[in-house]
Parts: sequence; C-alpha cells; structure tokens
Amino acid sequence: MSTICGSDLHIWRGDVDIAALGLPLPAIIGHEMTGRVAALGEGVSTDSAGQPLAVGDRVVYHFFKPCGRCPVCLRGEEAACSMNQLFIFPIDAFPHFTGAYAEYYYLPPGQTVVKVPDDLSDELVAPLNCALSEVIYGFDKIGSVFGETVVIQGAGGLGIYATAVSREMGADRIIVVDGVAERLELAKAFGADELIDMREHRTPEERVQRVMELTGYRGADAVAELVGLPQAIPEGLDMLGSGGRYLEIGNVSPGMTTTIDPSSIVRGSKTIYGVVYYGRDTLKKSLDFLSRTKDRYPFERLLSRTYPLEEINRAFEDQEEKLVARAAIIP
Ligand SMILES: [Zn+2]
Ligand SMILES: [Zn+2]
Repeated sequence: MSTICGSDLHIWRGDVDIAALGLPLPAIIGHEMTGRVAALGEGVSTDSAGQPLAVGDRVVYHFFKPCGRCPVCLRGEEAACSMNQLFIFPIDAFPHFTGAYAEYYYLPPGQTVVKVPDDLSDELVAPLNCALSEVIYGFDKIGSVFGETVVIQGAGGLGIYATAVSREMGADRIIVVDGVAERLELAKAFGADELIDMREHRTPEERVQRVMELTGYRGADAVAELVGLPQAIPEGLDMLGSGGRYLEIGNVSPGMTTTIDPSSIVRGSKTIYGVVYYGRDTLKKSLDFLSRTKDRYPFERLLSRTYPLEEINRAFEDQEEKLVARAAIIP
C-alpha cells in the first residue's frame, strides 16, 4: 500500500520539475509505502533494528539514502546530506522498481528497513516513512519542548502528527492554526489546547495577536510550519517569543519566495531549523510512537480511502480536489 504525499502532488502538478532536478523520465514516483518482503538479498536475516526479518514480513524503509562519505555525513548529520539520493531511476534500467506506485519495490543494499509490528495496520504505517518521521525528527532537532508553548501552523496530515508528537513530548500548551473546520476539530482530537481559526482571525496580524494573547504576550517557544506556503513563514516567526525556535518542514517547492524582516530574527534571538529527511533511528521511533499511542489518538480518522493502482490518476485528482485527505493505492 502506498499513499500520495503533498510532494507527489507538487510533482504531479508540475510545481517541482523533476527533470530539471536531473531525475530521469519516465520514472515511477511515490515514496510512502509499506509492503511485504518478496525476497531477501544474500545474507540478510535482520532489519535495521536487529529484529529477525523474513519473506512475508511487512516493512517500512527509508526512501532516500545518505552518501555516508561527505563532510556533512561525517559530521553525523546524515539527514542533511546534500547527496541524499532519492531512488528514482529510469524505468527501463535496473532495478526498475524504484517508486512506490508499482507492484514491487527494490530496496538497495544497506538501506534502512524496519519490520512493522502486527498491531499496526497498513493504512497507519504507509505514510510513516515521510510525514510522521519528518515530524518526529524535526521535533528532535529543535530540542525539548517539555513544558513549552508550541504553535502548529497548518492542520493537514503533518500538522496533525505534529500536534500529537509535541503532546507526547511533553509540551505544556499546543496552539493549532488552520482555516478548515474539520481539520481544526481533528487537531483538537489529537491534543491541541487552543485553536486559531483563520476564518475568524483573518489576517496574519490578527493571528499573531491571538498567539500573544494566549501566551501572556511572551510569544511561543517553538513554532512548526506545516502549511507549505511561503507566506506562513513571516507570520510564524512573529508568533515566536524571544529565543524561540522555528521548525520549517512545509515548503518544499523551489522558487517560491516570501519577504521577512531579518531584524526580528536577530533582535529576537530566534533560530530557524530546516528539515527535509530524518535520521537512521527515526523509523523505529515512529513505529514505536504509533504502537504506544494508537489507542490514545483517533488515527483511524486519518485513514485514507483506497484505490486500485489502475485508478491512480483518479486518486491524484481526488486528493488534489481535497475529496480525500490521503489517498492510498493498492496494486
Ligand atoms: Zn512524502
Ligand atoms: Zn553525505
């Protein structure tokens, strides 16, 4: 089972020109997936967490691979490796199956792969190697939010995960900003303390003001941008208090810009963290997080509608039209 990610939609729409990024076409895209092991390479008997791995087991995996030898990797920052390979190859070249929207997927030697426990459904884990893992790694990256006030910009899939993750990490107060009633309601169910409805607080100034009111005019300790629009950034930075940390995950499309006042970062001693991939230990943490919290949050409300692979175009259209939150494809 594979799911459609916001970044797949960007590619589908043409916001991200993958040919211009040097990736060969035609290619199979899709990077969020779970599946059963069809065959194991020679000598492979365990997953990356050291658990026994056999044909038929369900797995999740890294859809990117750090080079392991550049200065960034040597510094231990593999998630920031600029050579991180996305496994997109021409479909006519070995190993052929390098995208999730297909019957098979080839996982290269040495790649991080973790067995899925039986208590987690395919629907729950299919998007785990992207959205949830990036959120968990991102919150690891900005440091402890224990006892802090966290603002989540955007209550789409990433924002909902971020709400539950910051709750589980011990945030004192979580404020979620969105303009869609069902999403705000979902955020509440996933642990939000306060909601800022964009239909009520219509301008960035009004929303910043609302955060200030809710924080006794100190501002938030941490803000996570999970909207994916550049204009959310100046607004989010203004929601931060002095010394605050800004987690930037949402904006993935090159060439989209916004204007910020850099003095607000300097004078407010604010830090911005950009996160696109995650660490080698994150997948296991994500699986453990779901096993531990699946009865605490209504994850079933995030479950996707499923489509056969033949109807993948309809799945993309439905997700684009927001008829489904996250479409799932079954080959
Ligand atoms: Zn994704
Ligand atoms: Zn590297």
